[in-house]
Amino acid sequence: MNKIGFIGLGIMGRPMSENLMKAGYKLIVFDLNEEVVNDLEKMGAEKGNYPQEVAENADLIITMLPNSPEVKEVVFGDNGLKEGLKEGKIYIDMSSISPLVAKDIAEKLKNRGVECLDAPVSGGEPKAIEGTLAIMVGGPEETFIKCKNILEKMGSNVVRVGGNGSGQTTKLTNQIIVAINIAAMAEGLILGKKAGVDPENIYKAIRGGLAGSAVLDQKAPMVLDRNFNPGFKIDLHIKDLSNVLETSHQLNLPLPLTSAVMEMMQALKVDGCGDNDHGAIAKFYEKIANIEITSG
Ligand code: NAD
Repeated sequence: MNKIGFIGLGIMGRPMSENLMKAGYKLIVFDLNEEVVNDLEKMGAEKGNYPQEVAENADLIITMLPNSPEVKEVVFGDNGLKEGLKEGKIYIDMSSISPLVAKDIAEKLKNRGVECLDAPVSGGEPKAIEGTLAIMVGGPEETFIKCKNILEKMGSNVVRVGGNGSGQTTKLTNQIIVAINIAAMAEGLILGKKAGVDPENIYKAIRGGLAGSAVLDQKAPMVLDRNFNPGFKIDLHIKDLSNVLETSHQLNLPLPLTSAVMEMMQALKVDGCGDNDHGAIAKFYEKIANIEITSG
């Protein structure tokens, strides 16, 4: 691989691109935020001025953007990647977007001889910095084999789950399970608090049993400490659940629990908590119960 293009250098994309540079890859980078592009230029990356230029000067191009509209804009917009993506090049989108959009992009680029993977991640900023993200990959096996080494510079658990779009579908299942788990935790702890049992003791008592989970271990202490700093923002989780419900409705699939948690998150957003960590789903329960999930 001569050069990697990297577009979208935010909370996640910046440390991911830095890990590629640390591993010895040459990078050409672009973001609407020129400051971050200049920072990476100082670290040795080449500065790209627009997506087409990045595609023309790299063999493999990675995007890490907020959602489907931004990815479509970067690929198909004016001076977009598409103009510079020629036969033999590879495009990997690592943003969390709609699986239907991911599939559509892969089909359109395949017509130009471009190989595509969707490779969204889980683990958040700390794991992006450590290079230990979980990466769920959709796309052809032969493309995955070509790219696995590169993906392993950003993640420690890189798994191909199926064809194009299936990485994004897997990410959506991850987001459903996490959201409902946080709501389940909050619903359980609020009952304990209202009944006069210390929620901290409840957490300690149940964490080793069947109700124990990574979500419980990460989020219960945060709620008890009243720490709602993100982490993963409610606004971003709303974006992911919108993609879940758009996908499920197109498949004629009702998802009653996801819809309920989505409305809790919407209520929190209206209440000014969109930038809180998604552990703040507990605040929804606290408001309707008029009690806080605090120790004691
Ligand atoms: P972010 O908002 O910090 O970064 C997005 C970057 O994209 C910004 O630097 C922005 O300037 C840039 N950008 C937006 N539109 C652009 C365009 N048209 N052209 C060029 N650059 C553009 O977001 P993030 O937290 O890094 O998340 C990126 C993706 O990763 C999202 O899909 C998110 O859901 C997913 N994700 C985030 C986390 C997390 O904990 N933050 C965890 C897992 C997955």
